Amino acid sequence: MRFCEIPGNENIKSRLRTMVDTDRIPHALLIDGPSGAGKMMLARAMAQYIHCEHHTPDGDSCGKCPACLQHQSYNHIDTIFSFPIIKGSRDNPISDDYLPEWRQMLEDSPYMDFQHWMSLIQAGNSQPVIYVSEADSLIHKLSFTAHKAKYKVVIMWLPERLMVESANKLLKLIEEPFHDTIFILVSNDGKNILPTIYSRTQRVVVHRLPDEVIAQQLVATKGIAFNDAMALAHNADGSMLGWDGNQS
Ligand SMILES: [Zn+2]
Repeated sequence: MRFCEIPGNENIKSRLRTMVDTDRIPHALLIDGPSGAGKMMLARAMAQYIHCEHHTPDGDSCGKCPACLQHQSYNHIDTIFSFPIIKGSRDNPISDDYLPEWRQMLEDSPYMDFQHWMSLIQAGNSQPVIYVSEADSLIHKLSFTAHKAKYKVVIMWLPERLMVESANKLLKLIEEPFHDTIFILVSNDGKNILPTIYSRTQRVVVHRLPDEVIAQQLVATKGIAFNDAMALAHNADGSMLGWDGNQS
């Protein structure tokens, strides 16, 4: 994911780009804001920009180097995705158990429709959470140095769904970070993250998208006339998931 592929959010892209360009990337960054505004895409674009070997003159990742190609296939060796899952029949469930579904999710729903995630992992009536076994797995993975890159990046989706015990383990990682590890937390509801974690993050607030940005995307991807797209966008409440009533 390159910054140029993300509609709107220009000021946020600029902030994230500057953090990387000036080598002032916080150890724990929280991208916080309502569902459907493109937060996961911003996190992915930032991770790719961190790892890209040839930035473009206009401040984007190149899209062509080995690191970019790995990112674009959801398979970068120093990027770890962590996200809520259901237990299923496993004793110690970890996010990696659901990597095929996760890659499908990023492909199908870059704006991260939670209902779609529920259906991909066949959650039924279960509420997906981030288990303590996932926190243990992260600690284990992060104890190794980065394979190729200067930084390992953990992109955690919905840290508000960390179980308390998981959050306490993660807290230790955030308090005493490995020098080469960056956490990017992507939250729909930052106020519900454990306060001890929340207070240790640098927060970037993403706002609801303007109607024009949603409408332009509908014109580009659905072939809808601009005036009709504006009417749909007006009802979407600033969410790219909201225009057809699929708000999650
Ligand atoms: Zn690149």
